[in-house]
Amino acid sequence: MKCKICKGEVYITIKYPKMALCKEHFIEYFEKRVKKTIKKYEMIKPEDKVLIAISGGKDGAVVTYVLKKLGYNVECLHINLGIGEFSKKSLECVKKQTSYIGVRCHIVDLKELTGKGIPEVKSRKPKCSICGTAKRYIVSKFACDNGFNVIVTGHNLDDEASFILNNVMNWSTGYLARQGPILPQKGKLPKKVKPLYELTEEEISSYAEVVGLEVFSEKCPFAKKAITLEYKEMLNKIEETRPGTKYRFVIGYLKNRHLFEKEIEDIPLMECKICGMPSSGEVCSFCRTWELKEEIDLKVKG
Ligand SMILES: [Zn+2]
Ligand SMILES: [Zn+2]
Repeated sequence: MKCKICKGEVYITIKYPKMALCKEHFIEYFEKRVKKTIKKYEMIKPEDKVLIAISGGKDGAVVTYVLKKLGYNVECLHINLGIGEFSKKSLECVKKQTSYIGVRCHIVDLKELTGKGIPEVKSRKPKCSICGTAKRYIVSKFACDNGFNVIVTGHNLDDEASFILNNVMNWSTGYLARQGPILPQKGKLPKKVKPLYELTEEEISSYAEVVGLEVFSEKCPFAKKAITLEYKEMLNKIEETRPGTKYRFVIGYLKNRHLFEKEIEDIPLMECKICGMPSSGEVCSFCRTWELKEEIDLKVKG
């Protein structure tokens, strides 16, 4: 097989739409897809100040690389979660990636800031759920404190398909009403967008490799095998004989999402009395879990 466009040496065979591409034309294809996704869902405007949360993994690094190349005003945020060697290696990789891309990277050290990293926090909730709360909170608070109006995450087609499938399997209609490529701005909380929404994990890994991005792929020691990982494997198996299944599933979901709309509970958001961030109770779940007495200040000095 030869590259569909230039007949040169094939680097990757994309499964859906099926086509073989050389390195150069794969890069072009990938960046066009990101651009199209941003436009289709009206994700980012040229004047936006964009914050990207990165952990060292392929998705955050690739979305940063492409958005920077497309000329957006982007900066990165890495949260050091204080999980021993895992966090150390993840931080080293983030530093390499952001200096390679040439983008400013802010680092928030959870333990330095609050006295407790993820391992030290006491809670009955599973570690992954606490960690998720902490990451979402810090990214939002950092964005608010420093005037970012768009938060970008690296979620891809595989993440979205497995997430939707999981919510269908559990009939979590509340989640099914809210999932999607953009989460609009709500009160203080900036808009959240996913520019890699229509790209597969395989395409993202291949792109990272072809543009020379080093990626950190170790799993967190606290991570249990999530059911969504099993769904990803299942969906990839179906994809082998039925190319386009994942894409049709996700796009079909977006077309039918309105069917779940009445499941959206409009819980009025209060302000956390400690940090002032939106909260469903008097004290937000981050301030509560970390037993904070005063607001953490994430404003960048200088
Ligand atoms: Zn080519
Ligand atoms: Zn709070």
